[in-house]
Amino acid sequence: MNLTDSCPRCCRRGITPTTSRTRGNRIVHGYRCPCGHQWATARDLTAYSELHARRAQRPNRKAA
Ligand SMILES: [Zn+2]
Repeated sequence: MNLTDSCPRCCRRGITPTTSRTRGNRIVHGYRCPCGHQWATARDLTAYSELHARRAQRPNRKAA
């Protein structure tokens, strides 16, 4: 499992998460770059696809 991320500010790679938090089916990792920038990345635990920032809203629910 590769949990490292790239800094969106200085593009440094391989930043390891400093915090991790599970919320429902997602895990949110907090990162802190040596440049001082901090951010969080949410990942879907079910599909384990990386969800960076925005994601198009999908109508997952069917009106029953
Ligand atoms: Zn940085």
